[in-house]
Amino acid sequence: MAVRLIPENCTGCKLCLRACPYGAIDMVEGKAQFNDNCTQCGACASSCKFDAILLEAAFTRDVDVAQYRGLWVLAEHLRAPPWRPPPRHL
Ligand code: SF4
Ligand code: SF4
Repeated sequence: MAVRLIPENCTGCKLCLRACPYGAIDMVEGKAQFNDNCTQCGACASSCKFDAILLEAAFTRDVDVAQYRGLWVLAEHLRAPPWRPPPRHL
């Protein structure tokens, strides 16, 4: 995925800026701008009420995936919870 701004739709409301968990949006001349912290998570696109953020497939070329048959890839995308001391047992 890749995120792309449609500048003519952006009102500068900053909803996306507040929704981004990675601090990856700056406001430049009243418009949202993605910076290098972007992980392509898509949260900003969901938050925008003005259809100003597009999620696009990052790779549009055809890839022959047949050679990867039988290979499983598991990935987790977690935010670390706040640290808490372990419970005390009496
Ligand atoms: S939420 Fe949408 S309209 Fe508002 S600043 Fe972000 S991109 Fe622009
Ligand atoms: S795609 Fe995710 S990380 Fe990137 S700017 Fe949007 S909310 Fe932030």
